[in-house]
Amino acid sequence: MIEEYNTVIKNPRKVITRFASCYPNIYRVAMSSMGYHIIYDYLNAREDIYCERVIYPQTKSIETRSDLADFDIVSFTLQFEQDYFNMIDMLKRSNIPLESKNRRPTDPLVIAGGPCAASNPLPISTFVDLFVIGDAEVTLDKIIDVRSDTNNPRADIYDFLDIPGVYKPGEPAKIQQVKNMKDAWRPIYQIVTKTDNKKFMPAFGDNAFLLEVSRGCTRGCRFCMSGCMYRPRRETPLKTLLETAEKTRQVTGHNKVALIGEAVSDYSKIEELCWELTQEGFQIATPSLRIESVTDELLEILKQSGLKTITIAPETIQKQRWKLNKPITDTEIYHTVDRAIALKLKVKMYLLLGTPGETTDDIMELINFLRQLTSKGVRYNTITTSVNPLIPKPHTPLQYMGFDYDDLYDKFKKYSTRLKHRNKKENLKKATIQYVLTNSGAELNSLLKIGKKIAFKDWYKLAYKINEEKEKENYTLPWHEIDVGIKNSFLKKEYKKVETGEITPWCETDGCYNCGSCE
Ligand code: SF4
Ligand code: SF4
Repeated sequence: MIEEYNTVIKNPRKVITRFASCYPNIYRVAMSSMGYHIIYDYLNAREDIYCERVIYPQTKSIETRSDLADFDIVSFTLQFEQDYFNMIDMLKRSNIPLESKNRRPTDPLVIAGGPCAASNPLPISTFVDLFVIGDAEVTLDKIIDVRSDTNNPRADIYDFLDIPGVYKPGEPAKIQQVKNMKDAWRPIYQIVTKTDNKKFMPAFGDNAFLLEVSRGCTRGCRFCMSGCMYRPRRETPLKTLLETAEKTRQVTGHNKVALIGEAVSDYSKIEELCWELTQEGFQIATPSLRIESVTDELLEILKQSGLKTITIAPETIQKQRWKLNKPITDTEIYHTVDRAIALKLKVKMYLLLGTPGETTDDIMELINFLRQLTSKGVRYNTITTSVNPLIPKPHTPLQYMGFDYDDLYDKFKKYSTRLKHRNKKENLKKATIQYVLTNSGAELNSLLKIGKKIAFKDWYKLAYKINEEKEKENYTLPWHEIDVGIKNSFLKKEYKKVETGEITPWCETDGCYNCGSCE
């Protein structure tokens, strides 16, 4: 049983543009996405547009049960590379030709946005007419206006390509972002889901709404794509956050607020924000917190607001953390975990295997470190870990690095058999596929057309082929036409620093090092 509130009802015949906002992953993931809520609320605020949701595996809209082919624009939000298969599946099951070149003038314009589409759209470029690089609020209006002026969007494709942040292979584009969070769209009328079925329950529960605290992060972790793409960090003013929370509570009837942002705990007034929200009777939920900015006071406020679990990301052992430009000491981690346990909070930790130059001894050291940490857990399950292989991502200093399935297989085995606490681990085969999807060029389109039935041995071969390419002197990054602001010369310099573990200090405290993003 599932009920929704705040769904927008309009007469599709009375609008100029019908926009299908597709999410190629399941309902609970879609409804936990801030970006997806923003698109819906932002577009429906315009009277001439009706934005409806189409969520995988459905190919009909939730609002009016319309087919994808009935819309003027079909837009996909791509937050995970694995969703490419679902996007292709949705298109195959609709009446829209799968490839852009076969579409008729009357077929919808198919666009895609979100972090995957923006970082490396090449592997899915034949299925999508245009890509949106950056924030929806900056570009979508303009795309819709051009679309409403043409009866044949693909014939008039260059009219769309004049819009900054719109990309098609061969036409380089630069990321477009909201510069000041005062101009970011804040979805007050968020859709509220009531359900007793866990399958449909959004990530923060069915009694929470989302509040966007900031965008971007400049900490500079060398593996982090969003930390490289969405610079600089931009904060929503405190007063605006408190007013937005109150308004959204009235509209949704919910008291629980999930704070959203790349680096929520870096928010300059995080303690004040959490304190004020708690005083106003809000419960608070947060994503992963940056350890250095988690003060004892913040933990106490969060506990008081009803938080039950904190999530932190030590990633690996101290020596390797330095290579990743994450200068957090073991002592700091012990301290945070101790404080959390003393407050009877559960602790969830994210870890990475396969960090640059990682040895078998490093894995043993990580296991010992975790054993010491988990021995602090008073009750079983007080501390849980989730371990993932490091997947080199575009636009990061580690984009030049390969992915070694065989080496990771041995490391995962060693790691998993020696831990006693509850540990979730990413499927290594899926990670290999993700590496290929993230690091390939347009040559992958023909393979993706087949869908999910590709044998793992083929993905494995492709992964090692990419590794070989990366070794070549004249290797060209498949995503070189996408400019996310950060300079390649800076990324190369950072990659060199990985060897020695030299730290590039945080530009917000130690001054600008001219990465290119603020130009
Ligand atoms: S602190 Fe988090 S969001 Fe920021 S760069 Fe590091 S991993 Fe990315
Ligand atoms: S240009 Fe300077 S201030 Fe801006 S994100 Fe880069 S290092 Fe930080």
